[in-house]
Amino acid sequence: MAEYQYDIAILGGGPGGYVAAIKAAQQGKKVALVEKQYMGGTCLNVGCIPTKALLAAADTVRTIKGARDFGITVDGMSIDFPKVMARKDRVVKQLRSGVEFLMKKNAVTVYTGAGTLTGAHSIGVAGEAEAEFTAEAVILASGSVPSRPPIPGIDGARVVTSDEILFWPDVPKSLTVIGAGAIGLEFALFFNTMGSKVTVLEALPHVLPQEDEQIAAELAQSMKRQGVTVHAGAMVKGISDADGTKVVTFAVGSGDETTEQHVTSDVVLVATGRWPFTEGCGYEAQGIRVERRAVQVDEYLYTGVEKIYAIGDVIGGMLLAHKASAEAGVAVDNIIGRRRQMHYHALPTALYSHPEVASVGLHDACARSMDMDVRVGSFPFRVLGKALAIGEREGLVKVVVNGADGVVVGCQAMGPHVTDMIVEMTMAVEHRMTAEAFLRTIHPHPTLAEAFHEAVEAALGHAVHV
Ligand code: FAD
Ligand code: AMP
Repeated sequence: MAEYQYDIAILGGGPGGYVAAIKAAQQGKKVALVEKQYMGGTCLNVGCIPTKALLAAADTVRTIKGARDFGITVDGMSIDFPKVMARKDRVVKQLRSGVEFLMKKNAVTVYTGAGTLTGAHSIGVAGEAEAEFTAEAVILASGSVPSRPPIPGIDGARVVTSDEILFWPDVPKSLTVIGAGAIGLEFALFFNTMGSKVTVLEALPHVLPQEDEQIAAELAQSMKRQGVTVHAGAMVKGISDADGTKVVTFAVGSGDETTEQHVTSDVVLVATGRWPFTEGCGYEAQGIRVERRAVQVDEYLYTGVEKIYAIGDVIGGMLLAHKASAEAGVAVDNIIGRRRQMHYHALPTALYSHPEVASVGLHDACARSMDMDVRVGSFPFRVLGKALAIGEREGLVKVVVNGADGVVVGCQAMGPHVTDMIVEMTMAVEHRMTAEAFLRTIHPHPTLAEAFHEAVEAALGHAVHV
């Protein structure tokens, strides 16, 4: 009899956990996965997928409203919000069934319930499937939950997180969004297009604080043009009720110059980031280090305890689905003895705003702070043939090249379809491609991707079209 019931046990069925399960099964391993709520995790159920399904509805509204520019008149457009939400639910349901099918196809045993590490090699399951089982190696992939910072009034009625607003029955007349990270901005733009009066409050000096400042400033300008009120440098202090509306109090300025301001709305969305989830999972009792809520791992994603690895949002860093899935592959490789480190120098980010924002690698400010001889090339979409043809002129591409060796080290972009096109620059940054090598890649014309080619040319000082 084998010493353990399973070769690998996985705690959590998000894009970290379920991808790890499939990768391990493909290597002939006997795998168990414990999921307490829904297969596909945050990403599929209350994250990436439902938000993109909703934003696709917003894009449709925008296309119809912009049809006049193309010589097409559309009368009588109306939004049936429950149907918009129902379509989003259908997309999620279909994909969730797909992941459930993949578990069966790969012979992964799924335990539905909350899992706890009861020993270095044992997991207890409480819930629908009461169980206790053993595994030789364990991957912790318990993800994250919306943060709820200690702002007075945060627990009041109609103060919600992304988990709840995704199921809101109607379009609020007005909405205050606290936090201008990716989640806050995507909801702000969605509800703005659906007809809400939206105000965004961000504590740091600019929206998308992690992003290149120029791109963030252009996005903030674009959002204002679209009708969203944006206050950066606005630290929220409290939420109260007055005359049936929510009043959000925020501080602007610093020192003696600080003033308090208020904004009122029907609903408040708290989008102040997410917290790695470890509560009740029994990690610390098994000697696993948890710091600032995140499970601590080394570059092999190893916790340092027996054969326990951790991946995805629960280990912190950038909370992105593709990071979780990439880490899943690395953790499984390490467990099966193909030693591999996790690298993050080419981890792309994507914001599905309008216009979209995407980036990979170093910003110029960041590269300069590393004393790099930085060459920056940029190219605006407003002079690109394809962008004008499709009526999407906003935005630009910025490319950062290391002058010392000519290697492309980063790219930041705002504009049409940049979330899809960032893959090209991710390949360049991942494989440390030189700008010269990149430019030998012929780009089809007319395409939006030509903006990337032009930006790299600009970085070398020989742009053709600007
Ligand atoms: P999760 O997806 O959180 O999965 C963890 C799973 O573990 C959950 O299903 C949970 O129920 C389960 N679990 C936890 N504890 C236990 C336990 N004790 N026992 C059993 N099961 C347990 N990322 C992108 O890359 N692109 C996007 O466009 C994007 N949009 C987003 C939009 C929103 C509104 C939100 C909230 C997030 C978005 N994200 C996006 C982030 C993305 O969802 C996460 O980075 C990703 O889901 C992390 O994957 P994970 O597997 O680490 O964790
Ligand atoms: P992210 O972590 O990328 O999802 O973004 C969350 C955003 O919320 C960050 O940009 C924070 O600066 C912002 N934030 C956090 N707390 C507050 C607060 N009290 N008031 C305003 N913005 C906040």
